[in-house]
Amino acid sequence: MARNRYFEDEELTYRFNGSSLKKSWQFIKPHRKVLFAFAAIMLGMSFVALVPPMLNRYIIDYVITKEGVAGMTFVQAAILFISAWGAIGITDVVYTFFRTFFMSKTGHTIVGELRRDTFIKLQRMAFDYYDTRPAGKILVRVTNYLNELADIFSSAVVNLIVETAKVALILLWLYILDWRLALVVTAAIVPMGVCVFFLRKVLSKRHRAVRNKISNRTAYVAENIQGTPVTKAYNRRARNVEIYGELNDKANRGWLRVVHFNELMFPTLDGFFYIGLLAVYGVAVFFATSAAGMGGLTIGKLISFITYMGMFSGPLNNIANVTQQLTAATTNLERVFEVGETPPSICDAPDAVTLPTVDGHVTFEDVTFAYEKGVNILEHFNLDVPEGKMIALVGPTGAGKSTVVNLLSRFYDVQSGRVLIDGYDVAKVNLHSLRTQVGVMMQDSFVFSGTILENIRYARPEATEAECIAAAKAVHADEFIARLPAGYNTPTRENGAGLSSGEKQLLSFARVMLCDPKILILDEATSSIDTETEEKIQKALDVVLQGRTSFVVAHRLSTIRKADCILYIADKGIAEAGTHAQLMEQKGRYYRLVTGEH
Ligand code: ADP
Repeated sequence: MARNRYFEDEELTYRFNGSSLKKSWQFIKPHRKVLFAFAAIMLGMSFVALVPPMLNRYIIDYVITKEGVAGMTFVQAAILFISAWGAIGITDVVYTFFRTFFMSKTGHTIVGELRRDTFIKLQRMAFDYYDTRPAGKILVRVTNYLNELADIFSSAVVNLIVETAKVALILLWLYILDWRLALVVTAAIVPMGVCVFFLRKVLSKRHRAVRNKISNRTAYVAENIQGTPVTKAYNRRARNVEIYGELNDKANRGWLRVVHFNELMFPTLDGFFYIGLLAVYGVAVFFATSAAGMGGLTIGKLISFITYMGMFSGPLNNIANVTQQLTAATTNLERVFEVGETPPSICDAPDAVTLPTVDGHVTFEDVTFAYEKGVNILEHFNLDVPEGKMIALVGPTGAGKSTVVNLLSRFYDVQSGRVLIDGYDVAKVNLHSLRTQVGVMMQDSFVFSGTILENIRYARPEATEAECIAAAKAVHADEFIARLPAGYNTPTRENGAGLSSGEKQLLSFARVMLCDPKILILDEATSSIDTETEEKIQKALDVVLQGRTSFVVAHRLSTIRKADCILYIADKGIAEAGTHAQLMEQKGRYYRLVTGEH
């Protein structure tokens, strides 16, 4: 799959559907009691809200006039009504506080759980997932898109339940008052629902479009941070600002398209409300003037019918609001859930067995492999490496040297053929047991933020300090570590900023020594280092390679010469194989590589 870049919109492979609702419910379920309790309280409070107008009326009619009511003097009535007002006020303040507190707590807890779940899924993804999209587009899913969901999982869902219940209650009440007029109201509500449905559909589309633009913008920022040294070295500041400006404009324009369309929701609801109102008046006039007469519809009933109809607009507007929020949220959730719904391309087979402690006998059996369908990198590749041997892989850039070793760790699956360790097919053993026995040292040894010690024990967190120091001593990393201000406890920055490339390599030698894998893959760094460090690295290499089967993507002659067998990788396979002496004698491609002759 082509890498989806910052200037290309992502193609979403997942759409919000019934099963997404089920999935959302899984996260809401543990908190359902709090949410339902608040839904019930909110419903109760909407009835309490009906009381103050009544109290006002009593205060005006019986207290201000000094008349008193129901055998009470006006002073007693004043105390009663004003206390009632006070009680309602206190209830409202306490309720609002707890509602805000519990709702946002619940919303953020649910989002926290979803975030954790998404992170776990991302950790399980194989290399191809990261190969096919920029880091920023992944990052934005666990940050922005999730941040915007807290309200949805708490207040929006509750509001939707409460407001829908209110609408249903009012409608029921309208049917009790006069079913004929209520039918007229229903006739206006149905097309309103249809309109809202279609508005929502268009809105979803626009939300999706804006998400793409936000992803593109984030991808560009992330790429720029990673590429800072190059940006600076090549004076790209002005051009980069220009590109960012374009991406930013596109995202903002997308937002405006959402906002403009969002605004249609409320006038639509209001429009249908007025159509309903006019229709009710029309029908009432028709009744009044027809021969059949009003049929039990008194003026008082008509007025109270219209008053109750007026009470529709509050909940309907709230529903419109929630609909807007939910539309935005579902397009966010699509991107979050897509991560979970994308099965990792590399995972344990259902019948995977644990790879027992291996001796390190590696076989490639008629392996054909392609990153992208139809573009084979290796074809019918065969190789047999007895335990404990060192293999050096050399050849032109892009020939497939790193690919060979990637298949051994099962970073990718072969298209056909098998990769075997001690006779076990790597595709059929569990990944954990495989990767604890195949150590990998990448070209740019990644250093994590933490301390030197934490970096050494990265793959074996349970290792003691003494074990870490012993590993560092074995590969001569101890010398440079001892010179650091706080020795093993010296803080390290992300990507090893502050350490030289040689020091980073020594650190990763120590890391791999601590893990003591039976098979070692080493992508030798190409960057040149000073002779003194080079010597140390060569010494460290001797220690690290001892007693293991090793595959070294080698760039230095000093390393290549150490190999038991050198493989010259070219033309989708092994072009030449043998020791340094044999291949030099052969005077083939390896010979030309070493001597520089053409
Ligand atoms: P070498 O290590 O010999 O320089 P690689 O094994 O890294 O070569 O790459 C072999 C070929 O596969 C190259 O053409 C490279 O562009 C391609 N390739 C490497 N990694 C990927 C990937 N993740 N996705 C697609 N193509 C890739």
